[in-house]
Amino acid sequence: MKILFLIIILYTPFLSVAQRVNIVVTDTQLTKPITTEVVTRSIELLNLVFNLPEFKDSLSKYAFVSTNRPNFSSEGNDIEGKAVYNDFINKGTVNINLKVKKLLNPWKRIISKTYGETNPGGYLILSYTWWLKRYKDKELVILYASHVGHEIFHTKYFGYVHDPKYNSGNFVNDRDVTYKIDDIIEALIRKTSN
Ligand SMILES: [Zn+2]
Repeated sequence: MKILFLIIILYTPFLSVAQRVNIVVTDTQLTKPITTEVVTRSIELLNLVFNLPEFKDSLSKYAFVSTNRPNFSSEGNDIEGKAVYNDFINKGTVNINLKVKKLLNPWKRIISKTYGETNPGGYLILSYTWWLKRYKDKELVILYASHVGHEIFHTKYFGYVHDPKYNSGNFVNDRDVTYKIDDIIEALIRKTSN
């Protein structure tokens, strides 16, 4: 009995340490307007926001379509925001590569408004300059941060995808994991960095 008591005492401090996620950029290939400074500031904000209790609380209010990550949803039920959060925070360190380049195919820019692309089998987040160059300073940092935050959930760590059925033209969608996370990040950055 004494031994059990001792074990509980010893382990309590470890159990009470809150889990944290840490986004680490391992490689970059940048083009203006995204500079090393913009990346540093954006990732700093992302790490701040992802570890706020408000991020957990906001995400936990939503439930998402099962097609966002079919193998993560049980029997085709909605994916609970809380499950998305727990899976995320359990990853601990998330290593990503960032690449920024010009979108050479004008149709992709005009018709599909492609902001960036992430290969679900990898860790590379590709972003296009056509929309980023509309912004500068703090606004650029905020929008790049929420964009990268969105794309992180498409990487191999998580593998969320968009369901074309629920794809809204303005990229705001409460039923889609990555669009909603994008919204939450942006709102929290604006709230905390004012
Ligand atoms: Zn996306």
